[in-house]
Amino acid sequence: MSLGARLKAILPEFFLQPRGVEGRDRLNYVRIWRYSVIGMIAVAVVPLIILAGINYYQYRRALKAEAVHPVHLLVSNNKRAISFFLQERQSALKFVVREKSFDDLYDPQILTRTMDHLKQAFGGFVDLGLIKADGLQVGYTGPYDLQGLDYSSQAWFKEVVEKGTHVSEVFKGFRGVPHIVISVKHLLRDGSFFILRATLDTEGFNEVIRAMDMSPDSDNFLINQAGVLQTASRRYGQALGRIQLSLPAASAESEVVEIRDDQGESVVLGYARIENSPFTFVAIKPSAHLTVESRGLLSELLIFTIGSVMVILFMILRVATSMVGHIFTADRQRIWALHEMEYSHRMASIGRLSAGVAHEINNPLAIINEKTGLLQDLITAMPDLPLQNKFMKLTESILQSVKRCSTITHRLLGFARHLDVEIEPIDLKVLLEEVLGFLGKEATYRNVTVDLTVWLGVPIIESDKGQLQQVFLNIVNNALEAVDQGGHVGIELKPSGQERVSVTIRDNGVGIPRENIKRIFEPFFSTKGRKGTGLGLAITYGIIKKLGGSISVESEVGRGTSFVVTLPLNSPAPKLGGGD
Ligand code: ADP
Ligand code: MG
Repeated sequence: MSLGARLKAILPEFFLQPRGVEGRDRLNYVRIWRYSVIGMIAVAVVPLIILAGINYYQYRRALKAEAVHPVHLLVSNNKRAISFFLQERQSALKFVVREKSFDDLYDPQILTRTMDHLKQAFGGFVDLGLIKADGLQVGYTGPYDLQGLDYSSQAWFKEVVEKGTHVSEVFKGFRGVPHIVISVKHLLRDGSFFILRATLDTEGFNEVIRAMDMSPDSDNFLINQAGVLQTASRRYGQALGRIQLSLPAASAESEVVEIRDDQGESVVLGYARIENSPFTFVAIKPSAHLTVESRGLLSELLIFTIGSVMVILFMILRVATSMVGHIFTADRQRIWALHEMEYSHRMASIGRLSAGVAHEINNPLAIINEKTGLLQDLITAMPDLPLQNKFMKLTESILQSVKRCSTITHRLLGFARHLDVEIEPIDLKVLLEEVLGFLGKEATYRNVTVDLTVWLGVPIIESDKGQLQQVFLNIVNNALEAVDQGGHVGIELKPSGQERVSVTIRDNGVGIPRENIKRIFEPFFSTKGRKGTGLGLAITYGIIKKLGGSISVESEVGRGTSFVVTLPLNSPAPKLGGGD
């Protein structure tokens, strides 16, 4: 298929050949076409694109939820585990203070033994201290020399007095090793109290955290409220370093957000506060996998959407084009029909007028003819008449002109006579051969080839023989006159549909300019000057109409012309009184 043909399927003909239609008319069809295309796009393509957008958005959300869910789980599990880890140790201390009296614990041996038991039962204990209500550490067992320290002015001491328990942040203290302190207060019956204070190394936390998530790309750690790392982070460095990550205010519920970290990388960040402690657990996973997946999804969705949009657009263009095309052709046919009607009316009146004129002129012509003949006889009878030859020539040219005039008047009369029709069965092949036989001599003389092609199965038709002869004589004659020496005229006879036959007379002659095509069927329109009468096609047109047929012409200047005469198998019975 050529590009033109392909375009024709989706763009109206008048887009491609704007000259075929007049300006305003064309604008109308273009407008109808454009509106219908826009309308159909609005109801078909727009919803599709919106749906695809919604689809994409939802799919992305689902994907995100999928990436977020494991982090959620990890955070809440870790939170619970760490919380449990701390509570377990607090409970152990509470159990000790309930079990043992102040005096028991005051005994260094018992304190050391208790410490050993705690170490064995729960890992992570480093030392144990006994503090009196005034803040003085009166008992201590552990690797450092902290006996006798006064804690009364320290914040944690005030808090444990107030609340009963306390978990400290991670700090290095005197020892230079990160650790945390948990303390419990025990009320005595007399209203006074003492405090048991234990130090834990942060290894315990690290183990809990490590046990929860082994995947190499994730980073799990604890921070305090001020954003200081409490355990080591893969990404943000050692414990007690400050973290370059602004966290939303943490709550006890685990939260997961997607953010860009300080290195501009997109990460999934989960966090949760650990109750009764200053810690917030944080888990960070790169969210790269999410974007890769969604990119795949996006391209699939995009390809699908673009594909469907293209198909729909193509269909819309086709439908709009064929619809507007139909309207266009229907309109043109209607206009043509109106023209034709007007034209045949005009032809009829011209025909009657010319028949009248011809009739009137015939008599004087006959007289001129007769008298000129007489004049010639006289001239011949006077041999010594001066300038006899000159007279002879003059009268000869009068006779010729009269002959020409009578040809015209006879044709005009014929034109009027064609109002009456005589129907008989006709084999068009035979009829065309007769016509060609008639014109054959001239064709051979001018070295023009004429051929007749007859298709199989052309039926016999019922029509008027003499008039059809006249028709084809006129058309073939014109064709012969249009071609040069060595030209070609082809005649093709074939069935046309069920009820008709068509005869195409094609020549490769001079062609007819566009502005003349409208006029060639008018009586007296001729481009042949003195050689033409301009009646041939006018008469032809009248006859064909009368016989219920139609005639059409296509021509290109310099390339040739083809006339197509289509005739019904049965011509309508002649109307009485004739004349249209
Ligand atoms: P005439 O032949 O006497 O001029 P017609 O009615 O037969 O009158 O034809 C009218 C005009 O149509 C011609 O003068 C000619 O310009 C044009 N015409 C008709 N047939 C052809 C043709 N086959 N090729 C080119 N021009 C044609
Ligand atoms: Mg002619």
